[in-house]
Amino acid sequence: MTVNEYIDQQKSRFLSDLARLVAVRSVRGEAADGAPFGDGPKAALDEAIRICAEHGFNMTNYAYYAGETDLGDDPALLMLAHLDVVDEGEGWTKPPYEMTEENGKLYGRGTMDDKGPALAALYAMEAVRECGIPLKRGVRLVLGCAEETGSEDMEYYFSKRPTLPYCFSPDASYPLIHLEKGRFAPFFSKQWEPTNVIPRVVKICGGKTANIVPCKASAVLIGIPAQQAQPVCDDFAEKTGAKFTLSEEFNCEGGVCCKKLVITAEGVAAHASEPHKGVNAQTALLALLNALPLAECGTTDAIRTLHKLFPHGDTQGKTVGIAMQDDVSGDLTFNFGVLELNEDGLTACFDSRVPVCATKENVFDVIDTALQSEGFILQADAAMIPAHYVPKDAPIVTTLLDIYEQFTGEKGEALAIGGGTYVHDIEGGVAFGCEMPGIDYRLHGPDEFADIDTLLLSAKMFAEAIIRLCAE
Ligand SMILES: [Zn+2]
Repeated sequence: MTVNEYIDQQKSRFLSDLARLVAVRSVRGEAADGAPFGDGPKAALDEAIRICAEHGFNMTNYAYYAGETDLGDDPALLMLAHLDVVDEGEGWTKPPYEMTEENGKLYGRGTMDDKGPALAALYAMEAVRECGIPLKRGVRLVLGCAEETGSEDMEYYFSKRPTLPYCFSPDASYPLIHLEKGRFAPFFSKQWEPTNVIPRVVKICGGKTANIVPCKASAVLIGIPAQQAQPVCDDFAEKTGAKFTLSEEFNCEGGVCCKKLVITAEGVAAHASEPHKGVNAQTALLALLNALPLAECGTTDAIRTLHKLFPHGDTQGKTVGIAMQDDVSGDLTFNFGVLELNEDGLTACFDSRVPVCATKENVFDVIDTALQSEGFILQADAAMIPAHYVPKDAPIVTTLLDIYEQFTGEKGEALAIGGGTYVHDIEGGVAFGCEMPGIDYRLHGPDEFADIDTLLLSAKMFAEAIIRLCAE
């Protein structure tokens, strides 16, 4: 029997194993003794250990951080998947923890991210074993318990266990990801003495999350009437692409009544790794405020400085002096995404995705100097995460892409992305599968699903990867 025939025959068993894993709500919870990520991930690893045993694989439990099982000795290839999931959230039309099958699709939290791919890797190992294919070196499957919450599982696991010559993780997309930009996303702050001068800004509520281009930001001002601000808003709506709305409200505090003007900016949200696809409401609002005749004070000073360093439309960090690019990773991207400003100070955060050529000297130090010279303080433990890069001609890349082309008939191409995958900190690791290009599997959303055909095809491709990479 061929490996492909064997995997096809396992379909109903595969589905029942997957349903068992999906039934465990493996969302991170309170850490307890012997359960570093809470009861859910612990129960999922216990279930995976039982399933492995039923398939004749003895899985070693690394303190409920991760499980590990080998086929053969002296492993050369590590396949890495995870058992934890993000919580179900709202909006499901199917039960999130009871796998349902409909027209070849499997609905349920974790079917695609990442329990289905984890099982595909296990079935690949079994198929190679059951078909009696000789391997010169072994293959290792590692199932982690905290990919969704910062990958502490891998920090622990790799403190105990070695990396292997080849590593892939089916926790992203086909064809293959060989380059993941690095990230620099520190908080910074500034404090000043409040004053009573007018006109002035008393509050800014910008974005809340650094990794999203803010689609909304608002400012509260005193001492400027709406009719004076309106023409400036109209002008800046045109200049920035954002929409501004004005409203006036009366506010009485401690017997003192004053009229406040609220300006709300609306832009377009986008992911921080593709900031040029959005319209940043926060930087648009700062551009507008900078043009108003504000009195000299701490808030005015801060607004002018932020606008100077991070002007609207600069999604590459040109002004602050870190714009750079290289052939393999493309441009550095920059998103000024978080701002909270009050009468006496501000905290803010940006999210920059940095190319392979980024270093502490040409990014971190440049930002640090620019912020310090304006009186801002960078968070004490700020650090840049470097990019992750495996060359396109590395054997793991060429072999997996060749397999992908052979099994799908599609062009295999190594991709560079602005986000990070499970292998970001694993030297030589690539992401391979299981999302097929162009399909939205609603990962992390309601009605997440996987395709049965895609999971079984993945198992076949993983088996072929084992055969090719472990045969030398
Ligand atoms: Zn995942």
